[in-house]
Amino acid sequence: MADALRVKSLTKSYGNIPVLKGIDFSVQQGEIFALLGGNGAGKTTALECIEGLRACDDGEITINGKIGIQLQSSSLQAYIRPLEAVNLFSKWNKTQPDSEMLRSLGIYEISKKRYADLSTGQKRRLHLALALIGNPDIVFLDEPTAGLDVEARHSLHEQIKQLKKQGKTIILASHDMAEVETLCDRIAILKDGKIAFLGTIGELTAAVGKHYTLHITTPRGRQSYDTDHLTQTLLEKICEYHDKEIEITDVRTDRGTLEQHFIDIARGEQ
Ligand code: ATP
Repeated sequence: MADALRVKSLTKSYGNIPVLKGIDFSVQQGEIFALLGGNGAGKTTALECIEGLRACDDGEITINGKIGIQLQSSSLQAYIRPLEAVNLFSKWNKTQPDSEMLRSLGIYEISKKRYADLSTGQKRRLHLALALIGNPDIVFLDEPTAGLDVEARHSLHEQIKQLKKQGKTIILASHDMAEVETLCDRIAILKDGKIAFLGTIGELTAAVGKHYTLHITTPRGRQSYDTDHLTQTLLEKICEYHDKEIEITDVRTDRGTLEQHFIDIARGEQ
């Protein structure tokens, strides 16, 4: 599959403070790719350099296709109504609004409201619709679900999956691990101006280890154990509790979440 985006040795400083110290990655056509990192890691800087909205200091950026952008925070005139904004953006793009896309994002349902009266989730949907107006091949979304409630997040995730089904490439910035785990094909974790990890969620899990957490409940309370070797740890712990004549009332296991793995990388344990 061809690359939709290639980024090579991208650097960016603000004054004498380096934020991106030479980052390299590529995104294939049709992928959902996330840039992850803590606050101030440089996700927005990287996205906006790639989008051409900020000047980078050095590096090569190759984009194969038309792009659509949803910024981290956007605003429109308080009195504009959603369909007026859609028509305005369509004129700028010299295109007709795609009624199916507008319907699926619920824009007709909010068409009579003024922009200032829209909820955060409704504004996000409208800005996503505006980003999609020119029928872009590559869609950049900067923290698309920040501030949304569970239902609105779920609905936006479904929209993003739909875009992938249509063959679009999605590149998003996020620090929402659950979002990235359900949505993304590959991720890059930014740390100290560099990419600390680049790969799939499965590769991240494999790289960081600690695949399982074993929780054993006894009348004295619950103990949790991180392990890469579930069978061995389970046997050892059962024998240990048995030898100490402590009754086990419940045993549960869970796989480490991406959030734990991410925190491990962000703390530089790798
Ligand atoms: P967040 O998750 O909080 O949105 P981020 O990963 O998107 O953060 P950026 O917004 O790219 O991070 O900011 C990276 C660093 O660059 C931060 O320390 C920020 O203060 C700094 N920075 C961003 N924009 C500017 C600017 N225009 N001038 C000076 N410093 C800036």
